[in-house]
Amino acid sequence: MQSFSDLSALPSVLQQATAALDYEQMTAIQAAALPVMLERRDVIAQALTGSGKTAAFGLALLALLDAESPRLQSLVLCPTRELAEQVCKELRALARFIPNLKILSLCGGVPVGVQINSLVHEPQVVVGTPGRLIDLLDKNLLKLDALQSVVLDEADRMLDMGFLEQVSHILEYTPGTRLTWLFSATYSPEVRALSQRFQREPKAVTVESQHSTDTITQYFYSVEPAVRNEAVLGLLLQQQPSGCLVFCNTRNDVRDLTDFLWKRGIPALALHGELEQRDRDETLLQFANGSCRVLVATDVAARGLDIKALPLVLAYELPNDPDNHTHRIGRTGRAGESGLAISLVASGERPRLERIEKIAGCEYRISALPPRSQHSSLPAPAFTTVVIDGGRQDKLRPGDIVGAFTGDGGLTAGQLGKIDVLPTRAYVAVQTAAVPALLQKLKSSKIKGRSFRVRKL
Ligand code: AMP
Repeated sequence: MQSFSDLSALPSVLQQATAALDYEQMTAIQAAALPVMLERRDVIAQALTGSGKTAAFGLALLALLDAESPRLQSLVLCPTRELAEQVCKELRALARFIPNLKILSLCGGVPVGVQINSLVHEPQVVVGTPGRLIDLLDKNLLKLDALQSVVLDEADRMLDMGFLEQVSHILEYTPGTRLTWLFSATYSPEVRALSQRFQREPKAVTVESQHSTDTITQYFYSVEPAVRNEAVLGLLLQQQPSGCLVFCNTRNDVRDLTDFLWKRGIPALALHGELEQRDRDETLLQFANGSCRVLVATDVAARGLDIKALPLVLAYELPNDPDNHTHRIGRTGRAGESGLAISLVASGERPRLERIEKIAGCEYRISALPPRSQHSSLPAPAFTTVVIDGGRQDKLRPGDIVGAFTGDGGLTAGQLGKIDVLPTRAYVAVQTAAVPALLQKLKSSKIKGRSFRVRKL
């Protein structure tokens, strides 16, 4: 079943709307989720922006509501005001042939008085962000007792933004008979826990993505070019990644951003084509072995880097070549692990985004930057790199280093990280707290019968 007209449970007013919007075929998520939702079952669906998820839950909630009844019957919770506005717009487009239906968006940033006025006549559908909805519920201006369905849109993002308490609080106002439809880009343990707590025998709907990006969540944030550095800093503080690769289009931007981050207390390393080979090797090594959380690089310098999948990739600016975007985001979410790719987009870069969309075969939404993070710094990296001035040419092998560091050096195996032995030097990741004592102890001892200088990089 791929065409909306095959869905006999979809009322003709909604069939007409999909036709008017030129939606000919259902998207994969629609074909998988809509029939289940129309059977009045809970659904937990994994769907990215651009998959057609809004129309999936939009058509379902519109199909089930009674337009003759003046009560609030469906509530869509969104993480941000921008998303709520978009969802509201799409719902209105889908509901265009349903007479007298009132769909309202209720978000922060709008004076509450205006919203109170618009609530004099109860809307049948509300789309909103958790904070403002709670204000109105607690003031008894909004009643959820007649609710049939609740949608948690971008549930993972709502949890990331710390909305768990508020979402739970809102759901407590709703009748136990309501349907709960949860849409999320990722199934984190937190998302699963939310589902277990608030859903009843939900059917899980996962769509095999045509792209290899199915484990990558992408966000695009609009930014004024003058505040890109600040925006990168804010996102790092918000995400607190164990490792992040930040892509810039030029060497100058790489240098500039790296300096800025240092000044703001985030030790970041820079990687670009002008570095000497040794600096380049050492930079990469420190990033790969966990001695540095943030690497700022140009696309060319980052090509072919041997680093395992990162939890976060940030684009300081969209690349001119859309293939570079694919390479950038491919640095996260590999080997079945979920990853996050965030791109900053200035208004002049829309054509670049369009080229990226063309390749991806879907549309992306540009959102406003998330609010300021409550974190003011990143935790220090777990490891510090220790250098031994001897390498393969001196017949040093990793086993010799482990022996010396855990023997005379007094480390436990758990305090040792990655070991890289290059021709004339070896680099060892050591838990930061253990480094001073290690260096002290190794001063007078030997590795493989010889004295080598050992120091912090
Ligand atoms: P979403 O994933 O909800 O952000 O939707 C992405 C875009 O796909 C939106 O612009 C929708 O208007 C559009 N869309 C949704 N369903 C369909 C469909 N069946 N056929 C074509 N376009 C669609």
